[in-house]
Amino acid sequence: MVTGPSRRSLLLALAGAAAVTGFDPATRAWATAAHTDPNFATLPALDGRLLLAPADFGPYEDDFGHIIHRTPAAVLLPGSVEDVANLIRFAGPLGIPVAPRGQGHQTYGQAQANAGVVIDMSTLDSIAVQTSSMAVTAQAGALWHSVLTACVADNLTPPVFPDYIELSVGGTLSVGGIGGATSRFGAQVDTVTALQVVTGAGEIVSCSAIENCDLFEAALAGLGQVGVITSATFALIPAPQMVRQYTLAYPTEPALTADQRKVVEDGRFDWLEGQLSPATPSGWTFALEGAVYYRDGNPPVDSTVLAGLDYAGTATTADFTYVDFVNQLAAGVAFLESTGEWYDPHPWLNLFLPDAEVDAYMQTTLASLSATDIGASGVVLLYPVPSRLLTRPLLRTPDSTLVFLFALLRTASPDTDALPVPQALARNRTLYDEAVSVGATQYPIGSIPNLTHADWANQYGHELARFTALKRRYDPHFIMTPGQGIFRERGE
Ligand SMILES: Cc1cc2nc3c(=O)[nH]c(=O)nc-3n(C[C@H](O)[C@H](O)[C@H](O)COP(=O)(O)OP(=O)(O)OC[C@H]3O[C@@H](n4cnc5c(N)ncnc54)[C@H](O)[C@@H]3O)c2cc1C
Repeated sequence: MVTGPSRRSLLLALAGAAAVTGFDPATRAWATAAHTDPNFATLPALDGRLLLAPADFGPYEDDFGHIIHRTPAAVLLPGSVEDVANLIRFAGPLGIPVAPRGQGHQTYGQAQANAGVVIDMSTLDSIAVQTSSMAVTAQAGALWHSVLTACVADNLTPPVFPDYIELSVGGTLSVGGIGGATSRFGAQVDTVTALQVVTGAGEIVSCSAIENCDLFEAALAGLGQVGVITSATFALIPAPQMVRQYTLAYPTEPALTADQRKVVEDGRFDWLEGQLSPATPSGWTFALEGAVYYRDGNPPVDSTVLAGLDYAGTATTADFTYVDFVNQLAAGVAFLESTGEWYDPHPWLNLFLPDAEVDAYMQTTLASLSATDIGASGVVLLYPVPSRLLTRPLLRTPDSTLVFLFALLRTASPDTDALPVPQALARNRTLYDEAVSVGATQYPIGSIPNLTHADWANQYGHELARFTALKRRYDPHFIMTPGQGIFRERGE
């Protein structure tokens, strides 16, 4: 049943021929105000709600980047997986774009749908832990925080979390899902054993490595191109009780990466990242962040953990419960929410760099970056991931046995001297081009303007032909997730 606006107002809202309203730089296509008359009388009754009032669209025409804004024609709050399927079956033949949205934490309009329908997945958020098989099945709209809470109640945990756990299961599985435990367990997509997907043809399909494997592989890190992930099943591990985190300072970037290579190889840390901070307008500080899980009363021996590492000064240690460790960003986020900086524009750049090039690229890049470029609350991450742990074909990383995630998490606060958004975007584009020229790929969660077909062809390499074929097969009307801007035209 459609609740809220009447079917008549819904018809009025969506009826009418397509009218060009402007050029959309992110999708590189002409934006239109509406598509052909959808004759909504044919949309089956819904278990959830369809929002049609523009006053309700605010969050759906925006995201964490606050850079791209596109107005949908409607927003679906699904009450069931069937609602998702019915909406897509309705939209496909009419060519109405459809974008699933988790928490809208991408930064460049990737979960938006101009004149289309945004599906707010947050209403599908059930979680079922199967203790006997050490697995959890979570609906795509569930937050990682909720998954953590449900699993640790049974002393279990997913092996990998992103640094920020208020992201949705479907959102991070659509991009990959990287965190400090990726150095040991791969990305979140590598821990998934089964999915339920509503394809772009509106079919509800179960898939795994042995059942409908091509859909499984196209949905994981598939940027929402073949359909909507509606639920995922993950392998769990026993939840650690306590965590000791070590922060080690390094004088230079090569000194940091040298020790990161050492520790990722010998596996002394259960969790490994690295952070760079602009200490002065021209200088940087470099920190290795490693963590060891332990049981209460039996902490790791620091001298053993730190043996052979070439850091400067004294190691800083901090002990957390496992839950507090996984959620340690919460305090910083609460602070940024209180100052308002959390709501400033975020023109982020996220790249995977090949090991052989990381030091040269970073030294050139850091020489051109200052505190102003990052913004007062911005962060720069640099940490290694062994490629052998990254098994999903669409999570594209450089051809190198070790790759480094470089995350330039800028905040462009309009009321400070931070780099304004247009300049930050232009810098992102230049840094992306320079990185690609040395074999990098992008981790596609950020804000890189003017991506062309050649850029995507470079990103996907030999996988592009298969990805395109699967797109045609599972999204025959090319309606799914246009904000990613990968498949510009139908049949491309
Ligand atoms: C503060 C912060 C910290 C972050 N830290 C990390 C980190 O440590 N590691 C990391 O890997 N990433 C991190 N990210 C990036 C994050 O993983 C991505 O932005 C992710 O897409 C956000 O999830 P979301 O639920 O907001 O997804 P959304 O932004 O809503 O969606 C992301 C994309 O996936 C599509 N999508 C959403 N749900 C589905 C679905 N169910 N099925 C198919 N497609 C779907 C959307 O259309 C969109 O294209 C961080 C982001 C922020 C803002």
